[in-house]
Amino acid sequence: MANYDVVVIGSGPGGYVCAIRAAQLGLKTAVVEKDPTFGGTCLNIGCIPSKALLHASELYEEAGEKFGKMGIKVGAPKLDLPAMMKFKDEGVESNVKGVAFLFRKNKIDTFQGTGRITAPGKVEVKGADGKAQMLDTRSIVIATGSDVARLKGIDIDEKRIVSSTGALVLDKVPERLLVVGAGVIGLELGSVWRRLGAKVTVVEFLDRILPGIDGEVCRQFQRLLEKQGIAFKLSSKVAAVDMSGNRLKAKVEPAAGGPAETIEADVVLVCVGRVPYSNGLGLEAVGVKKDNRGRVVVDGHFATNVAGIYAIGDVIAGPMLAHKAEDEGIAVAEIIAGQAGQVNHEVIPNVVYTYPEIATVGKSEEELKEAGIAYNVGKFPFSANPRARVNLETEGFVKILADAKSDRVLGVHILGPDAGNMIAEAAVAMEFGAAAEDIARTCHAHPTLPEAVKEAALAVAKRAIHI
Ligand SMILES: Cc1cc2nc3c(=O)[nH]c(=O)nc-3n(C[C@H](O)[C@H](O)[C@H](O)COP(=O)(O)OP(=O)(O)OC[C@H]3O[C@@H](n4cnc5c(N)ncnc54)[C@H](O)[C@@H]3O)c2cc1C
Repeated sequence: MANYDVVVIGSGPGGYVCAIRAAQLGLKTAVVEKDPTFGGTCLNIGCIPSKALLHASELYEEAGEKFGKMGIKVGAPKLDLPAMMKFKDEGVESNVKGVAFLFRKNKIDTFQGTGRITAPGKVEVKGADGKAQMLDTRSIVIATGSDVARLKGIDIDEKRIVSSTGALVLDKVPERLLVVGAGVIGLELGSVWRRLGAKVTVVEFLDRILPGIDGEVCRQFQRLLEKQGIAFKLSSKVAAVDMSGNRLKAKVEPAAGGPAETIEADVVLVCVGRVPYSNGLGLEAVGVKKDNRGRVVVDGHFATNVAGIYAIGDVIAGPMLAHKAEDEGIAVAEIIAGQAGQVNHEVIPNVVYTYPEIATVGKSEEELKEAGIAYNVGKFPFSANPRARVNLETEGFVKILADAKSDRVLGVHILGPDAGNMIAEAAVAMEFGAAAEDIARTCHAHPTLPEAVKEAALAVAKRAIHI
C-alpha cells in the first residue's frame, strides 16, 4: 500500500498537468496510465501527430503551388510518405518523452496499468501481467479522457474503415477518401490527405459544417475548402459500408430520409465525435454520478458527488480540448491544495488547424442572437492587411462582436492564416474584460497579421483605416 496526497488516473494533458501542478504545490503525487506512453490522446493519437501531418502536408502543397510565384524553383515536390510518417512519429516521441522527464523532475510516481477506484481514497492498479497493487490517497483525480465515437453498423478495422487513430498511420495515400462527419478532426485529417493527393468527400448529417462555430465563418470556410477540391454532402448520412469488394461502397442517404446513393472509396474515415472514457473505473460501485452521455458529473470545483474524488478534461462536460483539460488540471490541483483554482469556461479558444485556419473565442453571432444580447460587429478582411497581401495569404477575415451598450468584447472569430496564434490576443483581452476600443487603441506591430485584429476592433466603431 502506497500513500499519496493525490492519485491522478490518466496522463493526458489534463492528468499530467494536474500532477505537475500538484507536485509543485508540495503534494505527494502519483499518476496511473494504462497505455505504454504518457501524454494521452493529445500527444499520442491526437493534437500532436495531426498537427505534424498538417504542417508537413501544408508545406508540401506550398512547395508545389506557391514557391514558384515567389521565385523559388524546386520542381514538382515528391511525396515520401514513410519519411513524413517518421517525422510525425519523432515529434510524438519527443513530446511523450518530455512528459516522462517532467514526471521525474517533479518527483511524481508513475504506475503503468489500468486504474480502478475501489473506494474513496483507494485506487487499484492492474498491470498488463494481471498483477494488481493498491494506492492509498487523500484525493483522486479522474482524467481518463475520451475515446472515438462509433457508428452503429459500421465496424472500424483501422485499415480501410478508420477512426482518426488509423487516419494518422495510413501507409499509402487513398485514391478516394470518404470522411464521415464535418467536425474539426474530419476536416483537419481530410485536408491532410487531400493535400497528399486523395480525392476527398465529406458527408455530414447536419446542413452545415463545424457545428457550434460562427455560421458566417463556416460558410466562407466551406467555399474555400471546396475551391481546394474537397466535396461536401450535407444533410446526409452514411447508413452502411459494403466492404466486400476492392473498393468500399458507402450507402449515403439524405438525413431526412429518401433514396440512397452509393459513394465509392478506398478508405472511410469515421469522425463523428468522441465519447467520455468513464467505464471500467469502478464509478458505479463507489457511487460517482455520471450524466446521460456517460460524463462524470462535477460541481464548479471539479468535485464529484463523492468526497475526495474529482474529475477533469474530456471525461467531464465542456469542449473536448487539450487546453481546457490542462487548465482544469491546474485548477483542481490548486483546489486540492487548499487554494482557489478556477477556469473561466467563457473564454476557451477553439482552433481548426486547416488552411486557412479558423480560431474563435467567446460567443458566436448565433449564440448572441439566441440570448437576445444586442451587439455590434467589426469585420476586417485579410485582403486589406499588407502582410497577408505580400505573403499571398489574403483569404478570410477577423470578426469582433462587442456588446452594443458597453463595447465589451463578447466574441472574436478569425478565418485566416495563422488564426490559431492570433486568437491568443483576443483571449487575453476577453479575460481582462476588454472593450473593442481597448484592442483598437493597443499599438500593433507593422506589418503583421494581428493588425487585422486591431482593424476589426476599429471597425466595431466604423473607423477601420485600411478599408
Ligand atoms: C485526431 C485528434 C486531434 C486533436 N487535435 C486537438 C487539437 O489540435 N487541439 C486540442 O485542444 N485538442 C485536440 N484534440 C482533443 C484532445 O486530444 C483532447 O481534448 C485531450 O487529449 C483531452 O485530454 P484529457 O487529459 O482529458 O484526456 P486524454 O488525452 O484522452 O488522456 C486520458 C488518458 O487516460 C488514460 N486512461 C483512461 N482510462 C484509464 C484507466 N482506467 N487507468 C489508467 N489510465 C487510463 C488513457 O490511456 C489516456 O492516456 C484532438 C483529438 C484527436 C483525436
